[in-house]
Amino acid sequence: MDREQKLYYFDNNATTRVAPEVVEAMLPFLTDLWGNASSAYRFGHRIRQYVDQAREKVAALINAEPKEIVFTSCGTESNNAAIHSALALHPGKRHVVMTSVEHSANIKYGEFLQRRAYDVTCLPVESDGSLDIHLLDQSIRPDTAIVSVMWANNETGVIFPIEEAAAICRSRGVLFHTDAVQTPGKVRVDVKSSGVDFLSLSAHKLHAPKGIGMLYVKKRTRFQPYVIGGHQERGRRGGTENIPYIVGFGRAAELALSELGSESTRVREMRDRLENAILQGVPNCTRNGCRDARLPNTANIAFGFVEAEAILMMLDQLGICASSGSACTTGSVEPSHVLTAMGVSPMRARGSVRFSLGRYNTDEEVDYLLEQLPGIVAKLRAISPLDTRHPDNDKFDLVSPPRPSTAAKLGTNSRDPALTSSGPGGVNE
Ligand code: PLP
Repeated sequence: MDREQKLYYFDNNATTRVAPEVVEAMLPFLTDLWGNASSAYRFGHRIRQYVDQAREKVAALINAEPKEIVFTSCGTESNNAAIHSALALHPGKRHVVMTSVEHSANIKYGEFLQRRAYDVTCLPVESDGSLDIHLLDQSIRPDTAIVSVMWANNETGVIFPIEEAAAICRSRGVLFHTDAVQTPGKVRVDVKSSGVDFLSLSAHKLHAPKGIGMLYVKKRTRFQPYVIGGHQERGRRGGTENIPYIVGFGRAAELALSELGSESTRVREMRDRLENAILQGVPNCTRNGCRDARLPNTANIAFGFVEAEAILMMLDQLGICASSGSACTTGSVEPSHVLTAMGVSPMRARGSVRFSLGRYNTDEEVDYLLEQLPGIVAKLRAISPLDTRHPDNDKFDLVSPPRPSTAAKLGTNSRDPALTSSGPGGVNE
């Protein structure tokens, strides 16, 4: 990319720009304050105080108590650690429940468990991406160790009923974990009112650097460390603490909490304007995911008769960053596992683009995207073999095929392929 070219960044669900305030907070810990928080001398104690302050700020973001926060290296580690702990502490329970639209941080861990003879149920979702909570209830068995349901989906932004899911698990005596990696700064998260046992966050989704995350472990919940070593994190995660990143995470959490109401409203208005203008102004487009129970920053749009990858390449030429839900494996584009689970046809899934907005987007940037996008889509359609005028392409379905009934979907056995994870090729952010 040209050095001078302005960046129009609409991919905030993938990662976010590090806030200048966060950099400023971190710098002293890369220069003068480089000590080890576990050291017994005063230099170490001084560093420890900053870790404690950061822990308080991260805890406040989710209304937790500081001692319930375990710093990890990323959201992926946090997800893996929660499931690992539940299984390690309950060796007689070899069943895990998750949804079929989880991030690969869960799906791939589920596949790993299946290869080790654990049983993993992946709950189907409705055509609008929502979860039928009764299916969760029905999926729980006497040997279920843990249920993991994401708070909000990274591709569609669809929000799941976490409070209800946690209540069902509690009433059945099963641990409940939620991957809340996509929530900070977008929706309010409260571990107390939601009643979850474990919750994952990742700092790079909230304007802090990559490589730091956290796992909330509800007090009095037994926990088996995933990274075994020193006594750091009250014995729950070995490894010398990454002080600059922990401090940066704390500052980012503080900013996210203080701006939550105003920022999510501002971002929602921009997202709605963008989405409505596309849906009304570009023919043959539909939204993937329900309209209301959704993150305020995410728009996932299926563009009929065109490949998302082609749109993204042309946007990229203009400095505009967005992403598709497809994964490119061995030269062929696999449709997103999230859209596939929603019953979106492969053709529509391959034409789907995710725009995810954030703190640094402006109305002018949205205007620029809206100026460019219709022309790009029209140009691509004019040369596309998927064009509507092509005699073979009159079957492009913009409407999802009918979904199987709830009863048919759940079946009785989690080995039912509709319920069991099967190697998605989806986007990983
Ligand atoms: N879960 C969700 C929903 C995500 O969007 C991501 C982002 O990539 C992750 C987990 C993984 O987080 P990390 O990149 O910190 O491992």
